[in-house]
Amino acid sequence: MKCLLCGQTMKTVLTFSSLLLIKNDDSCLCSDCDTTFERIGEEHCLNCMKTALSTKCQDCQFWCKEGVEVSHRSIFTYNQAMKDFFSRYKFDGDFLLRKVFASVLSAELRKYKEYQFVVIPLSPERLLDRGFNQVEGLVEAAGFKYLDLLEKREERASSSKSRSERLTTELPFFIKSGVSIPKKILLIDDIYTTGTTINRVKKLLEEAGAEDVKTFSLVR
Ligand SMILES: [Zn+2]
Ligand SMILES: [Zn+2]
Repeated sequence: MKCLLCGQTMKTVLTFSSLLLIKNDDSCLCSDCDTTFERIGEEHCLNCMKTALSTKCQDCQFWCKEGVEVSHRSIFTYNQAMKDFFSRYKFDGDFLLRKVFASVLSAELRKYKEYQFVVIPLSPERLLDRGFNQVEGLVEAAGFKYLDLLEKREERASSSKSRSERLTTELPFFIKSGVSIPKKILLIDDIYTTGTTINRVKKLLEEAGAEDVKTFSLVR
């Protein structure tokens, strides 16, 4: 089997843990590539997993005032290896790379048994451009289904707006008509930076009747 990222042939090494079936060895990454990704450590904001903090961070205090109790989980930090991964996966459109984190994601998403999964959508224009929704790809590769509740309309690139501008502009997401909103939702995105998008969509779903909306991203 070849590593999905660098293409080198992987040797099957029988480790003690793989013999005991503690670690499932269906990884699509060689150990060289695997070690370039960094997991979020123990020290982090309890609400959003921002690293190097052990209290509620400024962002989460801000969201609290906006009426949103942040409840976010992520696995990896956004380091150089992760930036390179997303540049190949999203911008070069290498859809095969959706499988890179399948086993890690599967182990994590399995913890949300009572929750219905909802993925942050792309606008139709962006979807046409990229050919796939990168978050749906990750969730499907991990072996999970998700509900199709949301739509997004095209907007100006958010990087060209300031933070306060982003918060006051109208949310480009809306709930599809005629769908029923489950009580417990896990809202999933690929990357959490300020949390603006995902927390505003969380609020939208809560206002539409969801009682418990947790959020999740592969990367923080
Ligand atoms: Zn590799
Ligand atoms: Zn926080």
